[in-house]
Amino acid sequence: MTSPPTLVWLRRDLRVADNPALAAAAQDGPVLPVFILDPADRWAPGGAARWWLHHSLARLENAIAARGGRLAFGLGPPAAELPRLALATGARRVLWNRGLDPRAPEQEAAVAAALAAHSIDSAGFPADLLAQPGTVRSRSGGSFQVFTAFWRAWRALPPPPTPLPAPARLAAPAEPPSGPTLADLDLLPRPRWWDGLAEIWQPGEDAAAQRLAAFLDAGVAAYATRRDQPGEDGTSRLSPHLAFGEIGPRQIWHAATTREPSQGAETFLREVGWRDFSHALLADHPDLPDRPLRPEFAAFPWDPPPGALAAWQRGETGFPIVDAGMRQLWRTGWMHNRVRMIVASFLVKDLLTPWQTGEAWFWDTLVDASPAVNAASWQWVAGCGADAAPYFRVFNPVLQGEKFDPRGRYVRRWLPELAGLPDRWVHRPWEAEPLALAAAGIALDRTYPRPILDHGAARQRALAAFAGLRVARGGSAPPA
Ligand code: FAD
Repeated sequence: MTSPPTLVWLRRDLRVADNPALAAAAQDGPVLPVFILDPADRWAPGGAARWWLHHSLARLENAIAARGGRLAFGLGPPAAELPRLALATGARRVLWNRGLDPRAPEQEAAVAAALAAHSIDSAGFPADLLAQPGTVRSRSGGSFQVFTAFWRAWRALPPPPTPLPAPARLAAPAEPPSGPTLADLDLLPRPRWWDGLAEIWQPGEDAAAQRLAAFLDAGVAAYATRRDQPGEDGTSRLSPHLAFGEIGPRQIWHAATTREPSQGAETFLREVGWRDFSHALLADHPDLPDRPLRPEFAAFPWDPPPGALAAWQRGETGFPIVDAGMRQLWRTGWMHNRVRMIVASFLVKDLLTPWQTGEAWFWDTLVDASPAVNAASWQWVAGCGADAAPYFRVFNPVLQGEKFDPRGRYVRRWLPELAGLPDRWVHRPWEAEPLALAAAGIALDRTYPRPILDHGAARQRALAAFAGLRVARGGSAPPA
């Protein structure tokens, strides 16, 4: 008689290496890894991430099959699907790696209770952070609101555990359950708009490992100096792989620290630390995606101009660095970090649009959308989050473009209609001489829009709104 299988509930941990739940299950007889899509779930992936998820699951299916196993799928609430699958296969145990989205602890408790009602055991493992939320604490036992203090405290802890190897064999249960297939999840968006994603990305665990190795071989040395230049390929682009758990931060940490130490590697690991910091904030504030950490911002007098959101989303604001970023996002599902900050500042401050609106657009269009990092970053830019940029620091999109994209490489790449403009006007085409515009084939408002607003006036409007907020609370107004 064969032993009963162990079910492994996979979510955003779509890898076979360094997967603690899978490794524990594989030690003990047959294993049935399961992925469940609950279309009614608020944190079900947005449009671009659905494309990524489809391909990531297809790769994972192959990796599991190559080890003699099989990936099962479910559709619906996990607290119903997991007991169904466990009863259908005679499983006595269900394991998972702890989830990272805001409702994961509650959901895991509901799943454990539903399984326990059938006398089925369950357990969760830490897997997808450098340190579990709650373990990086100040001397007084509190959580950190400032990243540098958080990171210093994390560095004082023992290093994360050595990554686990992929199980050599994942024996399938004797009687695998019937149920939906990957195709039944219907993840690929329609109509087919995702060719731009397929051109540049290769989802899956193998591609993640290759990207990390290539970055550590060739990119990390110059990371500290090139990471802020959107026209360069200066960052790892590991974010979607991390978002789906095709690679874990502990694997990144060990791969980077077993090499020659360098300033680039140190800076890179610090950014991975920011990811942990965002998750620590989310664990302390499960409403981080919806509510400002600084409560006075709940009364902020947002006042978006009509039509401005659509212009921002389409990359038609007339500010080249903003438009290039939004077009890169639309075409590739990713945007350079510096440009994310610029477009976010523009939406929240120049367009006085609630940061949650931008957060929602990013959720739908980013392949790396993460409930914790997206929310923490939007709050950071809006000035209402932890360790946030002060609200009165309003990015000037022209000066930011000229500073970080001085030759206009990034802008020309994503706005080919501006490609022929000399460097000095590429971030301010409306100031270009008529002859230069004509020579570059640009007709303002026909081939490329004039700015939808005057940045100086918009900045004053944002500062006045902010000052009103502070004065309303009896606080002091910031410097203008
Ligand atoms: P690298 O520079 O190579 O960094 C390595 C890894 O460190 C990244 O993959 C990421 O996991 C982490 N990281 C880097 N920068 C940050 C940061 N500022 N905060 C937290 N973690 C970081 N990142 C997401 O992964 N998902 C999001 O939904 C997301 N939304 C954002 C929204 C806004 C408004 C802003 C300003 C930033 C957002 N970021 C988000 C952070 C950052 O822009 C991306 O992580 C980064 O651009 C990914 O590219 P990379 O993998 O090449 O990064």
